[in-house]
Amino acid sequence: MIDLHSHTNESDGTFSPAELIREAVRCGVDTLGITDHDTFKGYTQAVPLAAEAGVQLVCGIELSTKLHSHSVHLLGYFPGNDGLADFEMWVLDLQAARRERNIRLVARLRELGFEITLEEAEARGRGMTGRPHFAQILVEKGYVASLRQAFDDYLDESAQGYVYRREPTFTESVEHIRKAGGIASLAHPVRVKADVPALMPELCDNGLNAIEAYHSDHDAAHTEQYLDLAARYGLMVTGGSDFHGAAKPGVMLGTGCGGNLRIPADLLAKLRAGIE
Ligand code: AMP
Ligand code: ZN
Ligand code: FE
Ligand code: FE
Repeated sequence: MIDLHSHTNESDGTFSPAELIREAVRCGVDTLGITDHDTFKGYTQAVPLAAEAGVQLVCGIELSTKLHSHSVHLLGYFPGNDGLADFEMWVLDLQAARRERNIRLVARLRELGFEITLEEAEARGRGMTGRPHFAQILVEKGYVASLRQAFDDYLDESAQGYVYRREPTFTESVEHIRKAGGIASLAHPVRVKADVPALMPELCDNGLNAIEAYHSDHDAAHTEQYLDLAARYGLMVTGGSDFHGAAKPGVMLGTGCGGNLRIPADLLAKLRAGIE
């Protein structure tokens, strides 16, 4: 079985790279893409473990990008896994911008009277500490009743605690992935809060070259719709469960939610052929 979308605890998954590889073996996944948010750390740690376990690993990443005002998740795949140095520098830049924002966010929240430290937040979020972790802390310390309230009253863009973070645009993100020889795939299109079919020409003009037609959030009709779009626009197709371990308990590696995922076995070979 193949699964090209999974997360380790180097981003917001709960499985360590070693546990993820063990889970792949247990589930019968022999080809696994690790696509942590904003980092290759989980993938890098998994490389020797996967080789030992006989799992074919695919180097990937997931980026949260901005297209106009929409948040669009973008997957980058690097099956060749070379020439990544410049891309990694760019990713490190993004991480630095996030950390710098977090320092200002702590200062702002302390100004508003909350006892909160960067260390507390980073203990939860590690390399991709973000507003959801700050929200958790506000709830745990009894400052707000719910995550919802933490965002509504303090962390949302329109709220008093918000501090700006530079987010990569969809355009620059695709560009960086493609320049590094990678495949840029539109992640879980069903979650894009915009008319995806209407956006397609623009996404393609930006250099998008694949779409994640197979995903745990897609029912059969969604998958059909996205396969059609891929065919219409000459895009490649990717697919994966978006496994996060205990963070999303309903999602199984390889098979998705209650077995709703059926990713064709030749997917990776087609991707490889597509970038040659
Ligand atoms: P960050 O990357 O640290 O700026 O945090 C962004 C994340 O916070 C998003 O991916 C969402 O998961 C979450 N988020 C942003 N705005 C809201 C909101 N109004 N309500 C709930 N979650 C939000
Ligand atoms: Zn995630
Ligand atoms: Fe995502
Ligand atoms: Fe994901």
